[in-house]
Amino acid sequence: MTPPQTEEANAPLPPHKTIYVETERVCCDGGGELGHPRVYYDLDENGEAHCFYCCAHFIRKT
Ligand SMILES: [Zn+2]
Repeated sequence: MTPPQTEEANAPLPPHKTIYVETERVCCDGGGELGHPRVYYDLDENGEAHCFYCCAHFIRKT
């Protein structure tokens, strides 16, 4: 008899944060906690962008 288990507790990465923006170009510096050099991204045709450093997900407000 095997007790049910979930693997969610073993997830090593924190959930990616989502940041809503109102401009075509966004700036990310990791927000201090994860800290990385300031970088700029242009939103794609879907109005989204991902930070290569901290995986922040930018979404354009509609
Ligand atoms: Zn970032």
